[in-house]
Amino acid sequence: MADSILVLNAGSSSIKFSLFVERGGGLDVGLHGQVEGLYASPRFIAKDASGSTVGEKSWSEGAQFDHERALDYLFGFIRGELSGFRLAGIGHRVVHGGLEYTRPVRVDAGVLARLDKFVPLAPLHQPHNLTPIRLLLARQPGVPQVACFDTSFHRTNPEISQRFAIPEELHDAGVRRYGFHGLSYEYIASVLPTFDAKAAAGKTVALHLGNGASMCAIEAGKSVASTMGFTALEGLPMGTRSGAIDPGVLLYLMDERKMDARAIEDLLYHQSGLLGMSGVSSDMRKLLDSDDPRARLAVDVYLYRIRRELGSLAAALGGMDALVFTAGIGENSVEIRDRACRDAAWLGVKLDAAANGRGGPRISTADSRVSAWVIPTNEELMIARHTRRVLDPNGIRESPIREGFPSAAL
Ligand code: AMP
Repeated sequence: MADSILVLNAGSSSIKFSLFVERGGGLDVGLHGQVEGLYASPRFIAKDASGSTVGEKSWSEGAQFDHERALDYLFGFIRGELSGFRLAGIGHRVVHGGLEYTRPVRVDAGVLARLDKFVPLAPLHQPHNLTPIRLLLARQPGVPQVACFDTSFHRTNPEISQRFAIPEELHDAGVRRYGFHGLSYEYIASVLPTFDAKAAAGKTVALHLGNGASMCAIEAGKSVASTMGFTALEGLPMGTRSGAIDPGVLLYLMDERKMDARAIEDLLYHQSGLLGMSGVSSDMRKLLDSDDPRARLAVDVYLYRIRRELGSLAAALGGMDALVFTAGIGENSVEIRDRACRDAAWLGVKLDAAANGRGGPRISTADSRVSAWVIPTNEELMIARHTRRVLDPNGIRESPIREGFPSAAL
């Protein structure tokens, strides 16, 4: 009986899933989908590898429909679809692994207790990521579970790039730059050699431009710097997150606007970024289609900040051989890639506009000193691969790269 691996990505109001099956020594996507609208108007959808809907349901229970109900339904559905396959393990996307988890880990009660300690470092994501692990440990103790972290890939960053200029005591207590979107960047680093072996051995800046957005400097396959920091709020402006902001602004908001931590959290995580600047939408497609001057300003600021961060990451690397665009905006927006590449001309990027219009994969001219690429990310496949390796450490077989599906938003 062939093995299958279930990948779960649980958020505050949704559980996304992907089911991978072993075929010919590789991992193929079987099904993917989600239960969304938890605690409000729950809906389930599942699609097969070709994108056809194979399951759909909605409920009217609203607030009663919690993570536990969602998991129950999901498992009932998946069990029905698993004939001929054994569920070998479950891989979970977990946002924070602290300094301790530099790689994925099999979860038992002890590990779960240690992961709980990182909740204050990522209060909006970590508790939800851990909820299914906790439920499944109790209810399906026989099924191995593996936690894969968004922070792990960045643990190779030199100490100097992780340091805030604050007293040592706070640094030692964990107030430092961690970096996120690590599973996405790790996937990009793992496939880059098949696109540009020379660049993969050298210096690359990858841009994960989705609802959450960040950039990462990668040298010889290892992360050396990232625009995200202590939280996934730092760096580029995002759909609804501010990105980098002068910490003095927070003091001003507290003193003059009498805002408390929760109000500032809501402002910076949910009311800022593209949505806050445009007043129109957090969706890049809508902004690019809009004539509203505020929508244009939001896009201009977004690209300006990409340009500045690119200079900063190229400086951290001491040069650049390749630029990689990924995630929803990076993979799909010809205009954003076009403008970002033109802004990077001074670093040696020569855009091939026609290739960019076709979506790549290579979007730089043959004589461009720095190559530029569009590479779809696949965090779910990365988690499935890790899960298989953790559960079967002696059976390492590198998966052939197969067709994936869009990354989940962090
Ligand atoms: P992700 O979080 O990776 O799913 O990315 C979501 C973001 O990708 C949203 O801001 C979408 O507007 C954006 N996106 C998806 N398709 C396009 C497109 N064709 N052009 C511009 N933005 C896009």
